[in-house]
Amino acid sequence: MTEIKVPVVRNILQANERLAAENRRRFDEAGIFVVNLMSSPGAGKTSLLEKTIDALAGRIGIAVIEGDLQSSYDAERIQKKGVQAVQINTDGGCHLDGNMIQIALESLDLSGVDLLIIENVGNLVCPAEFNLGEHEKIMILSVAEGDDKPVKYPLMFQICSVLLVNKIDLLPYTDCDMSKIRERVGQLNARGKIFEISCRTGEGFAPWLSWIEEKVGEHRTLRAGKQS
Ligand code: MG
Ligand code: ZN
Repeated sequence: MTEIKVPVVRNILQANERLAAENRRRFDEAGIFVVNLMSSPGAGKTSLLEKTIDALAGRIGIAVIEGDLQSSYDAERIQKKGVQAVQINTDGGCHLDGNMIQIALESLDLSGVDLLIIENVGNLVCPAEFNLGEHEKIMILSVAEGDDKPVKYPLMFQICSVLLVNKIDLLPYTDCDMSKIRERVGQLNARGKIFEISCRTGEGFAPWLSWIEEKVGEHRTLRAGKQS
């Protein structure tokens, strides 16, 4: 039976690639920079969003798509910041896909949006395989998870252009070795950037915010070029 199973999986991923490409065209037409934010549960995705929104609000138009198994708890946290947020409940599904993003986009007003952040379902496995149409994949690893995660979940670390190592304020209380994280991730993904941050204290946020602002600026320029 395995000879049947393999083509089925490939077809699902191919169908998803088509939808992701449609999403990407839409984002590029609107000149919006889109990131797909991934991590295991509890690494700090929503906390990162809250801190990032606080820092960029007023200068950058932000919208958020929140993926969760159940509940609209995270989208409510984001809406409290005065930012458009749509919740996708996957009903137990462990990743977002291109089709879910298309449906979520129907509920968003993209005019005035420069940056769309998609918070994926907390999971280090299959979110890495489903493109959503984003420009960049970003991952958060908290030091509480340990420095062995790049060895255990290599694909996720390979495909991300930015790794945010969060909760660095907890480093003295863990066995996590930052130099091991850097070495292991560097072997998988030499071009990826690594930023060490604490969403709780705000430490290390400046390089991350500069990176986002630079990317948003590039996409705004593309939009301006189209309009002239
Ligand atoms: Mg969350
Ligand atoms: Zn999944």
